Amino acid sequence: MELKALCMKCRDANNKPTMQVMTEPKVTEKNARFSAKGKCAKCSGNMFKFMSKDDAAKVG
Ligand SMILES: [Zn+2]
Repeated sequence: MELKALCMKCRDANNKPTMQVMTEPKVTEKNARFSAKGKCAKCSGNMFKFMSKDDAAKVG
């Protein structure tokens, strides 16, 4: 599954964060909320994304 998240470093012409592919996603659970940490495929910057439990199961 390809995971995408907003990258705060990869900004568009309007200086807004853009959706980029997350590489090396690591899923964590805290208080029954799932999130993924990974790296931006474009700039290698750190990324963070909240996920549903179903999505977390797909990423593993
Ligand atoms: Zn980026």
